[in-house]
Amino acid sequence: MAVPKRRTSKARKRKRRSHMSRTAPPVAPCSQCGTARPTHVVCPNCGFYMGRTLVEADDE
Ligand SMILES: [Zn+2]
Repeated sequence: MAVPKRRTSKARKRKRRSHMSRTAPPVAPCSQCGTARPTHVVCPNCGFYMGRTLVEADDE
């Protein structure tokens, strides 16, 4: 079985993992009501998505 010749140093391991951090999903205002919502998600306030398709009507 192949085995590593050298132990991976803390610095090398941490440099490799510096590219693994998560970033917050992009948030854009709804084109209809203007509330901030994640992109590619139906608006939780007015149910507006992709042009004029009103998927869910959730009033009060
Ligand atoms: Zn909306």
